[in-house]
Amino acid sequence: MPAADGRVFEDVSPRDGRVIAEVARGSAEDVDLAVRAARRAFDDGTWALADPVQRKRVLLRWASLIDERSEELAQLESADVGHPITDARNVDVPNARNCIAWYAEAIDKVYGEIAPTGADALALVGREPLGVIGAVIPWNYPLIITAWKLAPALATGNSVVLKPAEQSPLSALALAELGAEAGLPDGVLNVVPGFGEEAGEPLGRHVLVDKITFTGSVDVGRRFLRYAGESNGKAVSLELGGKSPHVVLADVEDLDRAADAIGWGIFYNAGQTCHAGSRVVVERSLVEPLAERLVAFAREMVPGDPAEASTTLGALVSGEHLDGVMARVSRAAGGDGARLLVGGSRAEPVPGGAYMEPTVLEALDAADPIVQEEVFGPVLAIQQADDAEHAIALANGTGYGLAAAVWSSNITTAHRVARRLRAGTVWINTFDISSLATPFGGVKDSGHGRDRSLHALDAYTHLKTTWVAL
Ligand code: NDP
Repeated sequence: MPAADGRVFEDVSPRDGRVIAEVARGSAEDVDLAVRAARRAFDDGTWALADPVQRKRVLLRWASLIDERSEELAQLESADVGHPITDARNVDVPNARNCIAWYAEAIDKVYGEIAPTGADALALVGREPLGVIGAVIPWNYPLIITAWKLAPALATGNSVVLKPAEQSPLSALALAELGAEAGLPDGVLNVVPGFGEEAGEPLGRHVLVDKITFTGSVDVGRRFLRYAGESNGKAVSLELGGKSPHVVLADVEDLDRAADAIGWGIFYNAGQTCHAGSRVVVERSLVEPLAERLVAFAREMVPGDPAEASTTLGALVSGEHLDGVMARVSRAAGGDGARLLVGGSRAEPVPGGAYMEPTVLEALDAADPIVQEEVFGPVLAIQQADDAEHAIALANGTGYGLAAAVWSSNITTAHRVARRLRAGTVWINTFDISSLATPFGGVKDSGHGRDRSLHALDAYTHLKTTWVAL
């Protein structure tokens, strides 16, 4: 439906800089309408109080509809954010679909508790939905992150108002249409596209919203904490990105395999991944051989047209974002004195698009912005370490704590290092392998709260005690 004031914004494809859609530009008024619709839907209980088996059926139908329309969704995602179409087909759409099916299958298998009390009482402890959830989503994996939020929130009986990022509103709108077709009752799922200040902030400040679940930048995440504090004290969970290090120890078993995983771990999705392995902290004896391999990997990964099935490195999300990434690389390789080993230039496989060569730098100072700040582009910084102890200090030496990896042939050493890395996920001798069964989220500036796994159900419910006198 159109925005209350009829305004629209242009959705530009980073593939070629063309406008692919005009989208309703939601304002505080639209957010208010959506939140009130969500509140009414929650309060009437059709969804919130439904038998979990009924919610499961609707969510499974939704997953089937995603299967049926998978090509359309993949095309939308690829055109909207520049993901290679093969990744959109094989990763984005199936991951979103599987997430909805996973929570559908889980929701009728979750039990409550009976608390230990004396014989004169029965204390039941159960989980109840929170009410209206505000979900604010970034542009880097719109389908997947939308599903990570919607599936557990809806499975547990909440109503949701979702604001997608202005760069990538299309797949969330399409997903919501399929949800309605699958049988989500009116008002249970609402999408308000628009800009952060115009639609995101009113959602964060709305007093009828019970919780905000947010993925995006540290700065905006902290704003949501302020909005909550200044409105109704709603719950807030935050996933705020990272600067994830690979710790490569001198006894790594297979340097080729490590280099391959490190290359994919930073250049997949053009580095626009919150847990991208954007730093390599490597013991001094291996700096040269590892850097050689990473440079070779980067040279082979040529930016291409996202619409071509053979493309492995697509576009960055927008020309504006590309400018920001380029500026960070220029600064690092210029005044900050990092050594540029490969890349550092724009590419133009499709005229008018936002493309960049995979880039590897060796950073000389752990305090440099290229080591400390999230670049969110295909840019890898190598840091030298004297020994394992020094490597741990360097790896932990940023504000972030989303993910990390350790590479060592000694499993005891690897576990000892993993234990001391401050991160929500640590991979050992691999990178970016995950499952819906494992929680995902961070510590420190990377936020708090977890998406995925049964623990995400806790994030959208509260514990209710019912005490019965016997
Ligand atoms: P933002 O944090 O700015 O945006 C994330 C979401 O928040 C979007 O829906 C955005 O809307 C909304 N938003 C923005 N400003 C406000 C506000 N003042 N009040 C309420 N909502 C707001 O991320 P960006 O897209 O600008 O990316 C900036 C950087 O953030 C990236 O370069 C990267 O470092 C990091 N990032 C991290 C992600 C992660 O997965 N953790 C994902 C994306 C970005 P709108 O798009 O309309 O502004």
